[in-house]
Amino acid sequence: MVRDFIGNTPLRRDEYLSMRYNTNILIKEEFHNPGKSSKDRAAWFMVEDAIKTNKIAPGGTFVEASSGNTGISIALIAKKLGYKAKIFVSASCSDEKIDLLKSYGAEIQQCDNSNGLHVFNSTQYLAQNYSSNTENTYFTNQYYNSNNIKAHYKTTGPEIWTQTNGEVTHVLVGVGTGGSISGIGRYLKEQNPKVKIFGIEPKDSVYSLYMQNIPIPDEEAKFDSIEGIGRTFIPGAFDKNAVDEIFQIDKNATVSISKKYREISGNLLGYSSAAVLAALDKHIEKMNLTENDQVVLFFPDHGDRYIHKLYKDLVSIEEISEDYNASI
Ligand code: PMP
Repeated sequence: MVRDFIGNTPLRRDEYLSMRYNTNILIKEEFHNPGKSSKDRAAWFMVEDAIKTNKIAPGGTFVEASSGNTGISIALIAKKLGYKAKIFVSASCSDEKIDLLKSYGAEIQQCDNSNGLHVFNSTQYLAQNYSSNTENTYFTNQYYNSNNIKAHYKTTGPEIWTQTNGEVTHVLVGVGTGGSISGIGRYLKEQNPKVKIFGIEPKDSVYSLYMQNIPIPDEEAKFDSIEGIGRTFIPGAFDKNAVDEIFQIDKNATVSISKKYREISGNLLGYSSAAVLAALDKHIEKMNLTENDQVVLFFPDHGDRYIHKLYKDLVSIEEISEDYNASI
């Protein structure tokens, strides 16, 4: 049963980062899920709920708007359970993810943007429109489906708590729909209200405005494209109370740290994982970390989904700043 293989991902101590930042850095490696991303968790909860509550009949089609990973997870789970998948993807979706979606048998439709249900021709608008006009389809609607938060509240949060023996002090999570950070933050703060939950978004995305009670501009904001994170609107899957602060990070810093980390550790970071690491590097002073802290970095997927975007042009070790090399 595919469910048996979703979740329970490793939490790995990163020796290099722990030494560099003089604290305990633990990486939650979500690429060990069957669909190779954290999105298997939300996809499973949404699909299972729809089937159990008869929102879709056997053989029907699951419909979703996705930057790629949720679509891949839904396609994989749907196929295993005898359903079909139709995924509306945004223009920013990597070639690797498009190929994977096709390989899992999903029908895909590329759209101009993913700016929300209210925006004409967005992935969400077109997915909803298609589902309302097509028999035996179900739009999982990850941006507003409570099972998205629930998946992380019921699985990821408890895993992090158990894997750190209740000693986790900080968690850094990229924010896309908000499901991961909200579920993890809600669960961990219930166990210990002192746990700090930091969200990461690209420059000009709107979560930080929302956290500071600044009105979200009506016009369609443009934000730096870092696949999987950032929004122009606040989805129902984001719970402000589960989050302490949102940090912004720019694309160049993200790309640069992905290459440096590869040179140092040999590992290929996913795009939004690199953004989380770049945000730690940039905002570390504000986090007031001590050497006894247990800092969890949530890595939703792996760099092998971003070879063309991040790793094709190999940088040489000489290009890595002296500063970053200093503590190897
Ligand atoms: N990183 C990646 C690579 C993702 O695919 C997603 C999901 N869109 C996220 C981060 C953000 O997760 P969430 O939607 O739960 O906020």
